[in-house]
Amino acid sequence: MSESKRPLPVPTPETKHFWEGTQQGEIRLQRCDDCAKVYFPPRPFCPACASRKVSVFAASGRARLFSYVIHHRPAPGFTPPYAIAVVELAEGPRLMTNITGCEQTPEALVLDMPLEPDFAKFSDDITLPLFRPAKG
Ligand SMILES: [Zn+2]
Repeated sequence: MSESKRPLPVPTPETKHFWEGTQQGEIRLQRCDDCAKVYFPPRPFCPACASRKVSVFAASGRARLFSYVIHHRPAPGFTPPYAIAVVELAEGPRLMTNITGCEQTPEALVLDMPLEPDFAKFSDDITLPLFRPAKG
């Protein structure tokens, strides 16, 4: 309805399990059954050993703020200023996301701060795993 809608990812066969997971409040990662490497983004083979024996599992949701930049220019679907953040999951993989629930300032966005998922439904297909400061 709005002309300034945020661009959304389109699920593919490789990422379908991930987007089904976020709809159910889970961040689904993949683990290699041969070398135990945990990885993201989704792909049908292990990035470490190329094995195709991989399993999908739900991450704990525990994460920390690894890095970020604060954007001050408007972009479709975003109200500046907003942070584009790299979040490191407790299981190891990092993902790009946004931080909710706090000021988008260097004072509020402290590196290594503990985060938890804040699942935001943007469409019938896409629920994005945003993150917010962890409570407690
Ligand atoms: Zn492997």
